[in-house]
Amino acid sequence: MKKIVVLPGDGIGPETMKQGLKVLRAISEKYSVEMEFEEYLMGGCAIDKYDNPYPPVTEKACLEADSVLLGAVGGPKWDNVEASKRAESGLLRLRKSLNAFANLRPAKLQPQLISSSSIKEEVLGESLDIMVVRELTGGAYFGEKGRRETENGMSAWDLMIYNTVEIKRVSRVAFEIAGLRNNKLTLVDKANVLESSRLWRETVTEMAKEYPDVMLNCMYVDNAAMQLIRNPSQFDVIVTENLFGDILSDEASMLTGSLGMLPSASLNENGKGIFEPIHGSAPDIAGKNIANPIATILSCGMMLQYSFKINEAANKIYDAVSNVLDKGYRCADIMMPSMIRVGTEEMGDLIAAEIYK
Ligand code: NAD
Repeated sequence: MKKIVVLPGDGIGPETMKQGLKVLRAISEKYSVEMEFEEYLMGGCAIDKYDNPYPPVTEKACLEADSVLLGAVGGPKWDNVEASKRAESGLLRLRKSLNAFANLRPAKLQPQLISSSSIKEEVLGESLDIMVVRELTGGAYFGEKGRRETENGMSAWDLMIYNTVEIKRVSRVAFEIAGLRNNKLTLVDKANVLESSRLWRETVTEMAKEYPDVMLNCMYVDNAAMQLIRNPSQFDVIVTENLFGDILSDEASMLTGSLGMLPSASLNENGKGIFEPIHGSAPDIAGKNIANPIATILSCGMMLQYSFKINEAANKIYDAVSNVLDKGYRCADIMMPSMIRVGTEEMGDLIAAEIYK
């Protein structure tokens, strides 16, 4: 029995999560995978009840679960609460408490949606399928930070610090994923300027000897930002530190068209993880049955693939999404002329129905 903690969160989170669970229940029946779902509060709804975006009761459940599914958190109602109580700080604490150091963000363009991309078809090439592996629990986001008064006014700092254990564990995940794909890995850093990047480059280059089949290429982050727009199909797997990964994974996601299509996984050493769409709580469309649930449904697929290692069931979800798109069904964010527009619930029903076929 797989014990899954479900954190629907705020805004469109509960709507899209409902569709993800619908699809997982279909998988459970079809493949006899026993899954038990328990819901807890996280984000704004938890601030309302506990004055804490990641309350101890939620943390305890997440630590005891086999896996965590997250909808989306935050919204204007909680924008003005103090920084340590913001929904985002709850997210950072969730990742840290599970030690989820490897963030996997696939930027895959579904061929049916090629015209939704912000990039011209001839630049995109035949297909776009990039996996960004971002270090998630170190670097400037977690290093010492502070402020002090100086003779030139206030100064502030965020320490970008990494050790080789942190670099190796996330790079190992990236090398292994590259080995299962096209044996091509790009390390993105700023080794011409930053000492922490030089440590990344030395460490990852040394590790490459253990993976002779994987071709490692090192690229400066400014060049990588440009190459992603200029010639995205040159990339297969990218590994990088937290801050660079935050920016580049958002850039890569835009190549694929809509936020509503993109899943993510954040894994720890044991493959346990947090699975969530990359979009936020979209308060502008919440409660209207128009949010695209595909990012959440694909995140459920990533949970089956990376946490439970049930590839057949994960592939069934990926194929079901593709089949529904092939049949012309679209949510509002990916709607195109002559397609059939459906709402959040209908999209969930259509994908769940494909699972039973
Ligand atoms: P957002 O991702 O919520 O929305 C950006 C735009 O994309 C909006 O126009 C929205 O309607 C649209 N969109 C997003 N998801 C969609 C979907 N599934 N289907 C159709 N359209 C979709 O980003 P934002 O507006 O900057 O942030 C809103 C709130 O979400 C903020 O409080 C922010 O802090 C929070 N947020 C949370 C997470 C998270 O939970 N991991 C991530 C990003 C932002």
